[in-house]
Amino acid sequence: MKVFLFSTGAIEAPGPVMRQMTNYFFPMMCVLIDHPSQGLSLVDCGFGTNQLVRGDRNPERLLAPFVSIKLHASQIAAKQIQSLDYDPQDVQRIILTHMHWDHCDGLADFPNAEVVVHPKEKKHACRFLPPLGYEPFQFFDVKKWQEVKFRRQNCLGFSRSLDLFGDGSVKLVDLPGHSAGHQGVFLPSEKIFLTGDAFLEEDELHRRRPRPYQLMNTYNHWANWRTLSCLRKLHKHSPDIAMLGSHSFCPPGGWPNHPVHWQPLARSYSI
Ligand SMILES: [Zn+2]
Repeated sequence: MKVFLFSTGAIEAPGPVMRQMTNYFFPMMCVLIDHPSQGLSLVDCGFGTNQLVRGDRNPERLLAPFVSIKLHASQIAAKQIQSLDYDPQDVQRIILTHMHWDHCDGLADFPNAEVVVHPKEKKHACRFLPPLGYEPFQFFDVKKWQEVKFRRQNCLGFSRSLDLFGDGSVKLVDLPGHSAGHQGVFLPSEKIFLTGDAFLEEDELHRRRPRPYQLMNTYNHWANWRTLSCLRKLHKHSPDIAMLGSHSFCPPGGWPNHPVHWQPLARSYSI
């Protein structure tokens, strides 16, 4: 199985919400998985062609005046998949950690892909009045959904998970708290745990206080706290497992700690 990590541009947030003076840039990471029999899967799809039309403007109505997007045409997921010598139309499925505006903007670039999502998340996002953080136009045109049927199966200390392909290569893990239905993706052979937005930066695995930005975007604070506590334990006892949040700066191999739109287009982590 091959796994590629790349960032689809950067989100620029005001410094104070991240407890700093200057504006803060954080990446929107996507992960391409090339499975020998199940084909291509993409974990989150970040910002897509639609964002190129919008320029810097945030697709989220209420955040638009405060939080902007920095994206180069070569950074949308479909382009980066092409640069890795794959055809974006061959992406079979998109696994969404959750359906917030920054994770599913690029769905329109993959019209044939099945979208794999936590059932609670889909229900919440598709409510008549869209809740804060969701923009229905980003997922209105999805043709095929797969709602994850989690099993009572412990995975990394979390009680509910699903072996997606039945061969132990890709495990979906229920990580409640950040949104109504939030999931992580564990790749056991690669020892990578994609934790979505359970934490924003890796230092939250060590210190107790999440940043204001993270608190503002959390659906269930108590559940998120329990998820974070479990991740901290895991980090302590299994340091060999790389935990990567969707907005992590430093995947294995290292992203430079600079505004991410200057980062390399793609990195192969494990072959
Ligand atoms: Zn996010």
